[in-house]
Amino acid sequence: MKKRIAVIPGDGIGVEVIAEAVKVIHASGAVVETTQFDWGANRYLADGVTVPADGFRMLGRDFDAILVGAFGDPRVPSNIHAKEILLGMRFQMDLYANVRPVRLLDASLCPLKGVEPKDVDFVVIRENTEGSYTDAGGVFKHGTPDEIAIQEDINTRKGVERIIRYAFDYCERHTKSDGTQRKQVLMSDKSNAMTHAGGLWQRVFKEVGEEYPQITSQHMFIDALCMQIVRDPRQFDVIVTNNMFGDIVTDLAASLQGGLGMAASGNIRPEKTSMFEPVHGSAPLIAGENIANPFGAILTGAMMLNHLGIANESGKIEAAVLEAVRQKKTTQDIGGSLSTQQAGDWVAKHLG
Ligand code: ATP
Repeated sequence: MKKRIAVIPGDGIGVEVIAEAVKVIHASGAVVETTQFDWGANRYLADGVTVPADGFRMLGRDFDAILVGAFGDPRVPSNIHAKEILLGMRFQMDLYANVRPVRLLDASLCPLKGVEPKDVDFVVIRENTEGSYTDAGGVFKHGTPDEIAIQEDINTRKGVERIIRYAFDYCERHTKSDGTQRKQVLMSDKSNAMTHAGGLWQRVFKEVGEEYPQITSQHMFIDALCMQIVRDPRQFDVIVTNNMFGDIVTDLAASLQGGLGMAASGNIRPEKTSMFEPVHGSAPLIAGENIANPFGAILTGAMMLNHLGIANESGKIEAAVLEAVRQKKTTQDIGGSLSTQQAGDWVAKHLG
């Protein structure tokens, strides 16, 4: 059956890279129907609407997946639309697992010396609905010398357990790109300093891990993890961590694969409509110049197709991007000289 995809390009380079991703998805022969939505800064500035009434319910009801670009526009300094659309989608549609594959396609893209593609092939599973990003907290005596700002870090038993279980299930169901079974889950926290939340993560990780005896459980403090990712990325397989640590560590990890322009992600709620977006933001500084790297968005499209069970076309897209990188048919951020559109066209024309 034809899968229905809602496409929300958003702002800035989101619009440019999603156009290429949609072009490539259709060129791959995937049997999908795409419907575009204009949610973003322009719409907000025109009529004050960030998310139309019933918008999230409509997405969950009428679509199999959502492909999103990026949100953020200097004309909306409060970033209210980005918050309401993107965080709203994650929280209200309960897209609790943010899955961010970190895979190096070609040695030339990695700033580390002597690192080969086979050395960088891990996945970060970031908790997506809790932690420090729920906006819980407040400010007292604002703007005075006595000001107090409190930012709460929310960790529920249910939320921690389901993301850790997701990481083990993911490990069990996935292979590395060389076809070997994934076999290790590493949980990262800062439980030596943040003892309350860390204690809960530690206990749940141990409990859930015991249900998966064939998978190796490991732990690293988040600061050590950052150091080790740069020192030796080979040691990682599946990493699970909280919302904020996952946000930070995946930007670091993206630099191992050629920068933000190459990184893909999925915001998943198993069995429900899930949302897919490139890891990068709207990059206002380069928006409108037709130079943004579309490969992160195109690989995000491939990830979405795979999630929808359209594996053959997904594989074709990944292979074409790999070939483009090898042949330097890329935008300038990763060493080529093509425009956003030309890079998208090249991939669309080389789909096996
Ligand atoms: P956000 O706060 O939403 O992450 P941002 O503009 O601060 O948004 P990004 O949009 O992620 O951050 O981009 C930061 C910088 O990384 C950009 O200014 C740009 O130089 C580079 N960058 C990000 N994405 C791309 C891309 N697709 N192609 C080329 N360069 C990119």
